[in-house]
Amino acid sequence: MKIGVFVCHCGSNIAGAVDPAKVAESARALPDVVIATDTLYACSEPGQQGIIDAVKEYELDGVVVASCTPRMHEATFRRAVERAGINRYMFEMANIREHVSWIGKDKEANTNKAAELVGMAVEKLRRDRPLIPKQFDINKRVMIIGGGVAGIQAALDCADGGLEVILVEKTSSIGGKMAKLDKTFPTVDCSSCILGPRMVDVAQHPNITLYAYSEIESISGYVGNFQANIRKKTTYVDWELCTGCGLCMEKCPSKKSTDHFNEKVGVTTAINIPFPQAIPKKAVIDAEFCTKLIKGKCGVCAKVCPSKAIKYEMEDEVVTENVGAVVVATGFDLFDYSVYGEYGAGKYPDVITSLQYERLLSASGPTGGHIKRPSDGKEPKNIVFIQCVGSRDKSVDRPYCSGFCCMYTAKQAILTKDHIPDSQSYVFYMDIRSPGKMYDEFTRRAMEEYGARYIRGRVAMVYPKGEKYIVRGADTLMGTTAEIEADLVVLAVGAEAAKGSPQLAEKLRISYDKYGFFMEGHPKLKPVETNTAGVYLAGACQGPKDIPSSVAQGSAAAAKVLGLFSKDKLESDPQVSHVEIKRCVGCGKCVETCPFGAVKLVDFRGMPKAEVIETVCQGCGICAVTCPQGAIQLEHFTDNQILAEVNALCRS
Ligand SMILES: Cc1cc2nc3c(=O)[nH]c(=O)nc-3n(C[C@H](O)[C@H](O)[C@H](O)COP(=O)(O)OP(=O)(O)OC[C@H]3O[C@@H](n4cnc5c(N)ncnc54)[C@H](O)[C@@H]3O)c2cc1C
Ligand code: SF4
Ligand code: SF4
Repeated sequence: MKIGVFVCHCGSNIAGAVDPAKVAESARALPDVVIATDTLYACSEPGQQGIIDAVKEYELDGVVVASCTPRMHEATFRRAVERAGINRYMFEMANIREHVSWIGKDKEANTNKAAELVGMAVEKLRRDRPLIPKQFDINKRVMIIGGGVAGIQAALDCADGGLEVILVEKTSSIGGKMAKLDKTFPTVDCSSCILGPRMVDVAQHPNITLYAYSEIESISGYVGNFQANIRKKTTYVDWELCTGCGLCMEKCPSKKSTDHFNEKVGVTTAINIPFPQAIPKKAVIDAEFCTKLIKGKCGVCAKVCPSKAIKYEMEDEVVTENVGAVVVATGFDLFDYSVYGEYGAGKYPDVITSLQYERLLSASGPTGGHIKRPSDGKEPKNIVFIQCVGSRDKSVDRPYCSGFCCMYTAKQAILTKDHIPDSQSYVFYMDIRSPGKMYDEFTRRAMEEYGARYIRGRVAMVYPKGEKYIVRGADTLMGTTAEIEADLVVLAVGAEAAKGSPQLAEKLRISYDKYGFFMEGHPKLKPVETNTAGVYLAGACQGPKDIPSSVAQGSAAAAKVLGLFSKDKLESDPQVSHVEIKRCVGCGKCVETCPFGAVKLVDFRGMPKAEVIETVCQGCGICAVTCPQGAIQLEHFTDNQILAEVNALCRS
């Protein structure tokens, strides 16, 4: 075998802390190495050309590059060696930036360590064999989970790009939080006026199939070929027949059902259509409040429904859809503000959340767009906004910034003045974070044009005083205590991961952070990809995001799906596990441990044997280390290769 070793300077990133020439020199003494040299930027065009030229000149069978992370550069170098005429899997990388130059301070020790890593890579490469990726067909349908603004954007972009789209939304209408907003910052344009037409486009698009009031039961398969079981939850209304006329709502005598759309400001009927612009505009019975379903009495809706759509005997239905890619756009939930007992949230009726306030501001809300105190329906004059409730607060395990609360509070202060010109808004804040386009100008408008009084400091407590509330907090700029008499207190509650996100992540086999937000493939270079091929992210499910960013990411996810589907066949990574059938005793331990469901037991001449589904296997190697017989080996990470690396390290 003839091996070439190329040690990269990466400018001063590596060369500042490692001596690449010395590393190359030590590599020249390694078995099978016929050329070893250092290079300024191995990934640059001349750097790659140097490798290609060397492969040809020395008739190399394999190449080792010692440079930065394989996560970014492995694919680049594999393509380069392939251009030079050798199999792309006859290439190994030694990560001497993250593993050496970025962490070690002593240049000599670093250089030795880099040389050791190169030695290990060479030993591994000596046992590599050329691998050929398998090709497989691709199902060019995409499933989007979550019908908020991010999911809607992704769905429309994919559908306009000619793809068949399955959109799954867990509530009875698409629209997400944006459908609940009155106006949007920084343009203060009507939220439903801009979102409504897009929702209608979803309903009317011939390429989009919408499953509302549905959730993912399970999902199996792999990029290009996923099978999703979707649970269509019982609505007790046949949506094929329901025309959305609303007669049932009018006549339903059970009028105390939780009004989820209006954020529990007020109540609704047991059968309801959540809001006039709902898509689909179909009724759903809330079984918790329906007298017919609880006691067997009533049945008024069935009697009045002109379409005979009411079906009390209806049950959940599970349907299967086959898709080639998935976009997750499940958004966020609001922090449970009741943990802040000192604010009296949940106890005092006039201490409400920011989203409840949006519903009070909205013309389609429970008060017809008039700001009224929940306790007595009176118009408030002094309104206190408290920012960072469940954001940037380690004491409630929410140290992160929710991103959009500074902005929506400024918007709400502006809108308050528009609604009640003789009102006064006070905003308790920690810092103002307004980095978007026209965002800083917007918060200034709230202060300068609309007279909102900003007080920098945390609120210590809110307590009632007669009909009013005293909001007491620190004014850290003045070095005093601020005490404001409020008619209404609005808490800018932070964003947290949507409920059930970890469970959904397990089903999709994608990563999530400690707060439950889904993790992107790479924070800079793969912002919409996940670590599972064919699964993409859009919107606030990845972390708090405002509408422009959510929409941008929805489009980016759609572009990724369209790019993926632009090929007719996909290639699977051949660095997967395989089972040595003679050694396998069929114990099934690998089946239990594989996190991707890639190993199954099959009957082999009357004996159970493990079999790896190569297209599903992600090459993580868990099965290989689990197998008590050593019957599963991971291609290019075989026991022999790992031992050879360890030996190389111990020898040096
Ligand atoms: C009070 C308030 C005011 C705001 N004002 C503004 C503003 O003026 N301007 C602005 O830019 N931003 C504003 N925002 C932020 C804005 O709400 C978000 O940017 C936007 O909603 C993110 O969209 P999304 O689609 O990612 O998530 P969401 O709107 O949360 O939508 C997610 C959707 O996924 C569905 N879903 C969740 N889990 C599942 C599941 N497992 N299966 C199927 N479906 C699921 C949900 O039901 C929902 O329909 C405001 C936020 C708040 C709280
Ligand atoms: S049957 Fe249930 S939903 Fe229908 S009208 Fe009666 S209480 Fe309302
Ligand atoms: S390497 Fe093994 S455990 Fe990992 S995905 Fe493949 S089969 Fe599953």
